[in-house]
Amino acid sequence: MKTNLWENYENEKGKEVEDFCKSYKEFLSNNKTERECTSFAVKMAEKNGFKPLEKLIKENKKLNAGDKVYAVNMDKNVVLFVVGKRPFSEGLNIVGAHIDSPRLDLKAKPLYECQGFCLLDTHYYGGIKKYQWTACPLALHGVVIKKDGTKLDFVVGENDDCVVGISDLLPHLERGEKKENVKGEDLNIIAGNKPDTKAKESKFKSFILNVLKQKGIDEEDFFSAEIEAVPAGKARDFGLDKSMVIGYGQDDRVCAYTTLKAIMETKTPENTAVCLLVDKEEIGSVGATGIHSKYFENTVAEVMNLCGQYDELNLRRALQNSNMLSSDVTAGVDPNYLAVFNPETDAHLAKGISFNKFTGSYGKAGANDANPEFIAKLRNCLDAKKVSYQATEMGKVDQGGGGTIAYIMAKFGMNVIDAGVPVLNMHAPWEITSKVDIYEAFRCYVEFFKMKN
Ligand code: MN
Ligand code: MN
Repeated sequence: MKTNLWENYENEKGKEVEDFCKSYKEFLSNNKTERECTSFAVKMAEKNGFKPLEKLIKENKKLNAGDKVYAVNMDKNVVLFVVGKRPFSEGLNIVGAHIDSPRLDLKAKPLYECQGFCLLDTHYYGGIKKYQWTACPLALHGVVIKKDGTKLDFVVGENDDCVVGISDLLPHLERGEKKENVKGEDLNIIAGNKPDTKAKESKFKSFILNVLKQKGIDEEDFFSAEIEAVPAGKARDFGLDKSMVIGYGQDDRVCAYTTLKAIMETKTPENTAVCLLVDKEEIGSVGATGIHSKYFENTVAEVMNLCGQYDELNLRRALQNSNMLSSDVTAGVDPNYLAVFNPETDAHLAKGISFNKFTGSYGKAGANDANPEFIAKLRNCLDAKKVSYQATEMGKVDQGGGGTIAYIMAKFGMNVIDAGVPVLNMHAPWEITSKVDIYEAFRCYVEFFKMKN
């Protein structure tokens, strides 16, 4: 069995881990939606010399090895490139993570009044255990687009302002009702309990409408808005030994952040390096900003064009000859729920980045099964730099399973493997990771971007 990495982390490296995770926690605390993550990525890219693709196309700018480019799709999906020395047709080195996380979305007509309360109706997004979202402070993050196109950022519940939340049933009256039985339709956020004394009817809703009005929002504007209820508060150190991080949305922002940091370190690689941050993974990678969309393919074509290398056949070759890490979290063995794990073959916290050769469930159904030839190349690359990794599965056979974007990218004919950080209580409002795994994931992505295809 692999050793706990802290055993080998001498002081110097321990300090690097702490520094890295300090910025990571800040990122997690401040970026709780796919839009916020996209704009974080853009700011970091700009600061590090990446240029916006749209502008380069307008100027018909010629790109060369070492040039850095980024492209943004609908403010929810972003792709970054560092152009390599070798032709695109020899393949790209792609690391792809998702920046959407499970949450509660406000409905398009969310406001209503009941028993002296004003409430906000929600529709949950992704795989949640519904009872976990009750009786905890929630924040609202999102945008409202006015009819004239004006975009209003809407964030409530961070810093020292108010929070909102969903009430839970008291145990005294729980007879016959199980906590686990919370229904999706019952996930209603309590927004207020104060009447608008000037209003003739719907006094409680009217009070909240006045609050919203001060922010420039009318009731009809919720139709053209995307507002997500997420756990309120900051990411923090976890454990008396501070060895772990607890925070919202670490699936999959832990991989998104480490990938972003890794591409910032990448200078004129052999093969073009690509950091791909996608939306909608938690609901099947559908839609224009999910990886099923043509956006990624189109964007590669545009970048190849600016490098003077685009034609249809070259594009096909570039995609087919690529290597990819589908960087997404996996389940860490949990001492409280040992029954569902096989500790011999599943991932452990503090034992390095985890590689799942295959995901899927019930006889590998739906799995991308990575090729051993590709895995051998990765082992060679990572062992040379002493990156700590573990070869894992997710849970006992026939216990369940999961999917990532791996199988979708594999459709191009490229080599893909799942690689990510092990997590405890994945998809809960607060998820737990190990600091050393976060750092090893970053080191893994740095080396992968340098790898000769
Ligand atoms: Mn994920
Ligand atoms: Mn997930």
